[in-house]
Parts: sequence; structure tokens; C-alpha cells
Amino acid sequence: MVSLAAVVGGVVAFGQNAAPAGAAAAATPAAELRVFDPSLIDKTVDPCENFYRFSCNGWFKRNPLPADETHYGRETELYELNRLRLRQILEDASTAFATRSANEQKIGDEYASCMDTATVNKLGLTPLQAELERIAALTSAADLPALLAQLHTIGVNAFFGMGSNQDYADSNSVISYYNAGGLGLPERDYYTRTDAKSVEQRKQYLDHVHKMFALAGEPDAQAARDAETVMAIETRLAKASLTITERRDPQNLNHPTDVANFSKELPHFSLADYVGAAHAPAAGKVNDAEPKFFAEFNSLVTDTPIGQIRTYLRWHLLHTYAGTGLPESFDQETWNFYAHTLNGAEKQQERWKRCSSRVDRELGEALGQVYVAKYFPPAEKQRALEMALAVEQAMDRDIDSLDWMSAATKLRAKEKLHAVMNKVGYPDKWRDYSTLAIERGDSLGNEMRAHAFEFARDLAKIGKPVDKNEWEMTAPTVNAYYDPQMNNVNFPAGIMQSPFFSGKEDDAANYGDMGAVVGHELTHGFDDEGRQFDKDGNLRNWWTKEDEQGFNDRAECMVKQYDAIEAVPGVHLNGKLTLGENLADLGGLRLAWLAWLDKAEAAHVDLRAATDGYTLDQRFWIAYAQGWCTQTRPEQLRTQAQTDPHSPEEYRTNSVLTDLPEFAKSFNCKKTAAMVAPRPCRVW
Ligand SMILES: [Zn+2]
Repeated sequence: MVSLAAVVGGVVAFGQNAAPAGAAAAATPAAELRVFDPSLIDKTVDPCENFYRFSCNGWFKRNPLPADETHYGRETELYELNRLRLRQILEDASTAFATRSANEQKIGDEYASCMDTATVNKLGLTPLQAELERIAALTSAADLPALLAQLHTIGVNAFFGMGSNQDYADSNSVISYYNAGGLGLPERDYYTRTDAKSVEQRKQYLDHVHKMFALAGEPDAQAARDAETVMAIETRLAKASLTITERRDPQNLNHPTDVANFSKELPHFSLADYVGAAHAPAAGKVNDAEPKFFAEFNSLVTDTPIGQIRTYLRWHLLHTYAGTGLPESFDQETWNFYAHTLNGAEKQQERWKRCSSRVDRELGEALGQVYVAKYFPPAEKQRALEMALAVEQAMDRDIDSLDWMSAATKLRAKEKLHAVMNKVGYPDKWRDYSTLAIERGDSLGNEMRAHAFEFARDLAKIGKPVDKNEWEMTAPTVNAYYDPQMNNVNFPAGIMQSPFFSGKEDDAANYGDMGAVVGHELTHGFDDEGRQFDKDGNLRNWWTKEDEQGFNDRAECMVKQYDAIEAVPGVHLNGKLTLGENLADLGGLRLAWLAWLDKAEAAHVDLRAATDGYTLDQRFWIAYAQGWCTQTRPEQLRTQAQTDPHSPEEYRTNSVLTDLPEFAKSFNCKKTAAMVAPRPCRVW
């Protein structure tokens, strides 16, 4: 699962985006997913020694990792069930010619085009011909701005990214945002690390780019040279880019200027030509997120031979469309490097899975509309909102109990807490796709038009009032997020189901699992990143110096705790990169526990009453752990440790629980047990 794409603004996702699921799960639709499932428990494991294994071993035995998966967990089970539903919707929409709505025509024909490999293979590179010719015609750096604008319009991530974002200083206004970009490897450190594995990965990447050029018809020797060119340019861009850890601090990305002044920073690249061709505002406020990167880009444009720039652009065009848009040879080669070599997958996913996911990406709110009408009853929304409110109230009281925070900062924290907007299920108003033309038999053309539609939609927000009802995730998504500039929490319909949430199960199970998700997102408003934004979403310090120090001291405990974890031999977790997620995991689970205790006490429930052999409080913790049962390939675990702000699931379970004395009490764990930290960390 990939972390949420680096959309400008950077919302904080609960998990990685759900990984594509496997054939095994498709064959057995997950009809009996349960939030608390006693049959998954392994009684031979001491819960005080390894609670994750104790809670999940039964699931591991029942769910061997499918060959086409690199990461397969309980959320993938649900994702898989959802994808089967989407497939049905899409197949219906692709054949119901007489009765389908305008949106159903789009999703149905987009799916059918994507599935039509015969046509895709027959067309070859023809649908990209016009773009390839545009690149071939570039003979002077002076013409680069207009060409790059065209490539950005169709989603090609060459050199940098441009879009809209809320102003960090004024969350009510939307401005232009220029972001570092232009890399083909997962992130910048892949170009600079010197260990043997990283050196090998760069060789494999070179080989991949070489093969892609060869597939596009270049003679072998030229393809090899061109791959070297791509690597040289990307390495230069990478070295000038911030690390992913540095990018977590919004202060590092906040460099407000305006179009006129930004264009002075780019004497070798006509910003006027670029914004003209991109149909972006020619004046007004701009955020230059990474000035050092743009300075390097400006030099690169003038000191790199134009032929090399053409090569670099050609690579990124092929790379962007090599999924389901180009012939299977390109698709296979791209899978081979990104899924097999980097992440260990043994088999490519069936095409219908990738096409369903593609329609969800491109036309998510057209597909989501049909999905929620069928699978998301209004009562679910009400229950989720009640839970969000209960967790919010628990946090209110929790803030009162903090011994390290002053009364003044507590007051601000509570103001922010109560300003958080809870969004559940799907948008109040669905996106209008009427200007996006989807044609049967034109897979790549559809993809290109979908990118252009999204690019224009995003740019159109600049200078207009902020739309707080907009969603960054589609309704069927099995995930959730907090948006610091909106100060809202978002729970798509997709995650509000078993095994995370069920109307058939008790509060202990639902609060242990979905309650912790709700608490996690809420805590993001107060993690190392989120706490820098005020209740209105402005990047503005509302902390006293002492309280800030108190927060940082406590957060440091978490950084050390996770730095010490070796995910795969030789690769440790990055405590600073994962700090926000780890804070949200720990704070969120604590809040869910407090909210559940309140609810149980109000109902005079006996916490020590047992069902299925476990007391209610034990069921709460087991439900939490069982939400995380996941199998991961070692290659993927390495990628995750090096790129993902989320810790691997085993630590999202065990490390979090070692910090909670309430957990140890529920299972009567001794002070010396592995599941009890000698000095537990606590921030929230
Ligand atoms: Zn999160």
C-alpha cells in the first residue's frame, strides 16, 4: 500500500492506501468478517509476550500471502470485498446501454476500455504519438515551459508539480503551489544511499528505464545511454530535494511569494510561458515549497543539453502511461520493477482488479455514488458520528488531565478540538464530471483526459472560497484521514464496515477497532505536524514556549522507541518520519479506551464479564490488535520502513500497547513482560 500521494497540502492518512488484494480472497468473499474474532486467537502465545501474534496467528494461518500481493491484511480483506462490489457495478454499467445514467456511461465505458487489452495492444504507442512528437520537437530550452505545462496537464510528473493549495498563513484562501518532483524511484534517498542494497536497486532501476526505452523502439545502445541520462538528471533533482522527514514539517514547505517574484527566481525558465500554457493564474500569491530545488531546476534547464532534457521527458511520459494505457509489454516491465523487484510481488494482479482501481482513481465520485447507494445505509453514518462525538468528549477531559500543559494552551487545544469537523461516508455534493469525455475503445485517451480534467479542476480552485466539503479519498476507500488545513476528520464509507465496525457487535469490539481509528485521526490534529496549525487551519503557533518544550520532550520518547526497531536486517524504522503516526496511534487508542469506559460505565456494564472466554476489556484490546493482522513481504517491509510515515502493523500493535498500563492491567502482565515498557511514553 502506498502512502497517500504527495498531494499539495499533505493530508494525513490513517493507513497506507489499501493494497490491492489477492485471488484467494476474491474466491472467498469475506462474508464473515468480524471485528472481534475469537477464532483468530493463538492461545499458545502469551498475550503479555507478543500480543500481535496472540491476536493474529489464527488469521495468519488462514490467510497465506497471495502471490500477487506484497502486503495483505484485514483491511485488504475488506478492500477485496469492496472491489468485488465495484466490479459488479462496473460490469453492469458497461453493458446496461439502455438504462444507464451519464455517470454510469463514463464509469462503464472507462472500465470496458481498460479491460480491452486487444485494442490497447493493437494501438501500441499510437495514442501517445502526438505527445512524443511534441517532445521530439523541443530544440531550445526556451520552449520547455510550454511543453512542460502540457505534460503536467496530462499528469506527467516531470521536474516539478504545480497545483492549488490552501495558503498556510490563511486557510480561507487557495493559492498556487509549486512542489519538488520529477523522480522515478520512490523518494529522494533512493538516489543517495550508499549501502549495497540501495546501489543494487539503482542498477535495477537503470535496467528498467533501459528496457522501457527499448520497448519504445530505441536501439539497445541508445536505450542504455538514455537510461544513464535519466538517472543523472533525477539524481541532481533528488539531491536538491528535501528528505521525506524534512517534508513532514510544514515550516520547511512554507515559502510564500507571488508569480512575479517567483519568476525572478527562475531566469532560465519563463514562468509566464508556463502559466500561460497551463492556464494557471498569471499573477497572485504562490508558495514555492522548495526554493533550493527550484534553484537547481533553474540551473539544470540551462546547463543540460536539450537532447538530454528530451530523453528525460520521454521517459516520464512512458512511465506515466505504462500501467493499463500502453501495451502489455510496458505494463509487465513496469510491474516487474515496481511491484516485483522493489516490493517482492510474485504475480501481477488480474486486470479487472487494476481496472476497477483505475476507475475509482479517475472517476471516484461517479463510482462512489452508485457504491454508497447500494452499500452504505444512513444508520451507519449516524453511528459513526456518535462515536466521533464520544471520542471528542474523551479528548476534552483528557486535555484537562495533562500535567505538563498550561491552562492557556489547554484552552487553545480545546478550541481546536471542538472546531474539528467530522465527515463520514461521502460528499454532500458529488463532483460533476459532465465535461470529461470517456470513449469506449480509447483507454489511453480516457486516461489522458481524466488527468487533464483533474488538473483543470484543481487549478480552478485558486482564488475561490475553500470548499470544506471536498473529499481527498473516494467513498469506497478503506482508509481515513485528517486534514490539518481544513481541521477536519474524514471517514469514507469504505472503512465503516466489518472487520472494523459492525452493527452486530458490541461496543468493546467497535471502540477497540473503529474507535481507535477515530481517535487516531483526531490526535493527528495534535501531533508534531498537526499541532502547528490552529483551529482554523492556519500555520500559526498557539503554544507557550514551555508547553512546546513539554510536548517535544515527550515526543522524543516516541522517536527513540521507534528508532530502536529493526524492521528488516540493517533497516531501522525512522522515529522522526513515523512520529506523527505513532503519536496518533498511541493517543488515538487511549482516547478510544476512555470513550468506551465512559460508555460502559454509563450503561453499568461489568467490564470483567466474559464472553467467548474473554472479559469485555480484553475484547477491546484484542479487537484493536486484530484490526492490524497483516502479512508483508520482506522487500515491501524495507520499502515501507524507508518511505512510509506509518510504522509496520506489528509495531502499530505491540509498541503502542507497551506504552499503555491499562492494557497490562487487563491481561495481568508482569512488570518485566515484553508487552510492558519499563518507562512508557505518553504525550496525549
Ligand atoms: Zn494517521
